[in-house]
Parts: sequence; structure tokens; C-alpha cells
Amino acid sequence: MAQIDGLPPLRAVIAEHGLSARKSLGQNFLLDLNLTAKIARQAGDLTGADILEIGPGPGGLTRGLLAEGARRVLAVEKDRRCLPALAAIADHYPGRLEILEADALDVDPATRLSPPVRVVANLPYNVGTELLIRWLTPPAWPPFWQSLTLMFQREVAERIVAPPGSRAYGRLSVLAQWRAEAAIVMDLPPGAFTPPPKVASAVVHLTALPEPRFAADGAVLARVTAAAFGQRRKMVRASLKPVLRDTVAALEALDIDPTARAETLGIDAFCRIARRIAETG
Ligand code: SAM
Repeated sequence: MAQIDGLPPLRAVIAEHGLSARKSLGQNFLLDLNLTAKIARQAGDLTGADILEIGPGPGGLTRGLLAEGARRVLAVEKDRRCLPALAAIADHYPGRLEILEADALDVDPATRLSPPVRVVANLPYNVGTELLIRWLTPPAWPPFWQSLTLMFQREVAERIVAPPGSRAYGRLSVLAQWRAEAAIVMDLPPGAFTPPPKVASAVVHLTALPEPRFAADGAVLARVTAAAFGQRRKMVRASLKPVLRDTVAALEALDIDPTARAETLGIDAFCRIARRIAETG
């Protein structure tokens, strides 16, 4: 393994600190530093940016980010066994790495970061979707982040970038593409990780748009998509009944076929529904 930073190889770090992977924490580590540097490069220019990394583990991606020139990395890790390994990286890059021992679902690290902020993470699978939805639905837009570069199970990555009418199109697609550009930028086979997960993974890169593509209230849109895709096999006149008053008449007034299924409606249609709910209750 080529050295990118003069620190010990990750296998040695893991052995030294006894970091056997725990399934309950979604621990599938990346040990190839050339690969982690490549993932870091997918995030764009790091040199003038603060990076938020969730789940640094033994620090493979963290080292990639720092070696690629990140101005500063704030890394949030729940597993305290990893802290000594991360402290050694912080010593190697004085003033550029801050470690926060916390559950990423319990903290709001945005206040500790200076713009521009990029989020880069090989996310723990058990909390990845929850974190993504939080980052996509902040109270105000633009969000604290300029871009998100995130590793997901390939199947989740496909849902994020799926166009209307496709099998994978759903709530995540609408919430992500409503106000961000989203693309799959890298594929990783199970063998890239230690231990290998059961499924393939992919890196998704999302860039925040300055404004949403269509006007809508984010919280209402989240409710509409949850209702519509919660029962995706049903016609929207049935699935939207709990959230849209006079459902059939309202859909017709919005030029939406009440017998359509959610997966065929574009983001503009969901935003029209959300606006009507906001206007009429
Ligand atoms: N970034 C490392 C890499 O690429 O090798 C580790 C990635 S591993 C898939 C996920 C990491 O997230 C683990 O280090 C795990 O301990 C951490 N983690 C799991 N749940 C977490 C949570 N709720 N908050 C913060 N970190 C968490």
C-alpha cells in the first residue's frame, strides 16, 4: 500500500488499537489509502473548505481528506475505541483535525464549522439514510453544507439519483433532487471493505442548489412524499387522502391524474401538491 502521509498503515493501526469491526456500529473499514484519497477527491476542492466527516473509525477516509489538502476536518465518532488512532492523526496534522466523540444523531456540528462546508463520509449503514434526510430537510435553505459526498449501499445510492418512472424512484429521490444535484460518482465492490459487507456500495455526490427547483415548504413536501411512497402501489387519490383535502378534485385542479401512482409523478407535481396543502390546509 502506497503511503500518502507517513503514518502507519491502517492494518497496523487496527492491530495496535484492537479495533475489531463491530456490526452493531456498521463498521466496514476502508484500509486502502489510495482509495480513500480517491473518494476524498470526489468531494471537489478541499483546500478552502471545512469538512464534516461522520464515523471516521480508524481514520482511513480522514487521512485521505487531510492528505488531499482539506483546510479542517471535524470528525464525529461514536466508538471511543477509535479515539487514540484518531488522536495520532490529529498530531500529525496540527490544528487541522478535531475529533468529537458523539452519536451523530445527537449533535449539531454545523456551528463548529466555517463555510464553505463539505460533508464527506463512509456512513454507518444503520444511520446513513436518517442523516441524509436531516441534511436535506433543514429549516432554511441553502443548508450549512455546500456538498455531500457519501458512501451508501448501492441500492440506496440508486434511490437518491433515480428519475421519475424508474423502479428506484421514491421519497429519497424527490427530497434529494428537489434542491440538489445528485450523481453516483464511484462504485465499490464488497471486497474494498474490511470486513466485506454483503452488498455493493457507491459514492453519491450532492451539490446544494442555491434555490429549490420548485417552490414548496420542505416539511410539507416531506409529508406528501412519505404518504405517496408509503403506499407506492396505490393510486395517488388513495395514498394522498390523509394529507390532501378533497383529494380527487384537488389533484384534478393541479392537473395531476388521480389514478396515477406516486412513482410516475415528477418533483414539480409533488411541489404543486405541497403548495396546495400549505395554502388550503
Ligand atoms: N470512515 C471509516 C472508513 O471509511 O473506514 C469507517 C466507516 S464505517 C462504515 C462507519 C463508522 O461510523 C464506524 O467507525 C462507526 O463506529 C461509526 N458510527 C456508527 N454509528 C455512528 C453514530 N451514530 N455516530 C457516529 N459514528 C457512528
